[in-house]
Amino acid sequence: MIPYGRQSISDKDVAAVVDVLRSDFLTQGPAVPRFEQALRAACKAPHAIAVNSATSALHIACLALGLGPGKRFWTSPNSFVASANAGRLCGADVDFVDIDPDTLNMSTTQLSDRLEQARRDDTLPHIVMPVHFGGQSCDMRSIHALSDEYGFRVIEDASHAIGAIYDGARVGDCRYSDACVFSFHPVKIITTGEGGAVTTRDPALANRLGMLRSHGVIRDAGQMTHDSDGPWYYQQIDLGLNYRMTDLQAALGTSQIARLDRFVKERHDLAARYDEAFGQLPLRRQRRDAANRSALHLYPVQLDPALPDRASLRLRLFDMLRKDGIGVNVHYIPIHTQPYYRALGFNDGHCPEAESYYQGALSLPLHPQLTRTEQSHVILSLRNGLRTLGLS
Ligand SMILES: *Cc1c(COP(=O)(O)O)cnc(C)c1O
Repeated sequence: MIPYGRQSISDKDVAAVVDVLRSDFLTQGPAVPRFEQALRAACKAPHAIAVNSATSALHIACLALGLGPGKRFWTSPNSFVASANAGRLCGADVDFVDIDPDTLNMSTTQLSDRLEQARRDDTLPHIVMPVHFGGQSCDMRSIHALSDEYGFRVIEDASHAIGAIYDGARVGDCRYSDACVFSFHPVKIITTGEGGAVTTRDPALANRLGMLRSHGVIRDAGQMTHDSDGPWYYQQIDLGLNYRMTDLQAALGTSQIARLDRFVKERHDLAARYDEAFGQLPLRRQRRDAANRSALHLYPVQLDPALPDRASLRLRLFDMLRKDGIGVNVHYIPIHTQPYYRALGFNDGHCPEAESYYQGALSLPLHPQLTRTEQSHVILSLRNGLRTLGLS
């Protein structure tokens, strides 16, 4: 089966992890700050805090920005459940802002309208979390302008988007947000096995994130409530978690991040070939903004929204491709339609654009290990599938 996404591991990556296994530290030791330094350099961000997953990173970013019960948190329905769960884990009320049907990212028009209404109702959100779907940045300039106007904080879920460029600079530099989160799960752009990170420009926020990642404990005498009892002394000053990254993961991350630009370039070369092959087919593609650079985590296509009974056509196409050995996938089931969120009161129709996109969506294989031959097989199989369905 040709997977939709897959890690790319070199001999150097293997050697970097083996070196750590033979060193004094397995969990957070010297390799973690080295990886954080590499992340700062790659994103041009002043602070980076590495943790054990993007889910953890989203959770402590929300906590550190003061999200809690009685506060509101808005995100995109077209994402992995972890984006919304970050708000729920803090006890906040979660809501979803529908997507733009072309970019598949949170619609800034919808966001603006919803904020206007929320101001009238006195229900403004404390945090808005845009998600850079497929690796393409949201319209962060507009979201930042809205955050100034309505007074909310912004956390970017850039789990798909390390290596992307927005407005002439790296996603993750936090020019238009309070914090930015990356995932290093093996299907993402670079991997640490499991892993994630938060970047920020705010030194106080970075300090809080570091404290929350490790039990709410500090060892710096300057931050303690009274004089240290001695060299062994630490203080717990808040309720934190154990979200630490291991040195094994960090060493892999440092080795991987050296190839970040090459990985993104390889994804672009493959995507250009798909673009060319699909120009004539009845498929909608995610509109990519030529002025910016997507990290191209995903290559999503969508059956023409005008087709009747699109969901069953998509299911048949999915099955045909899988039978041909192609690991197509679907990103994403709109989060608000999950049973957990339905139980909180969400219904179909809450985000019609995300729901409509989901009915016709398929993600095709896209990763640096995908060979030209495999890609030709994907293209041919998709063409044949559409013909069998009478769509081309
Ligand atoms: C993968 C992903 C996450 C969660 O990442 P983990 O590192 O697996 O915790 C969160 N948000 C989005 C959009 C993702 O794709």
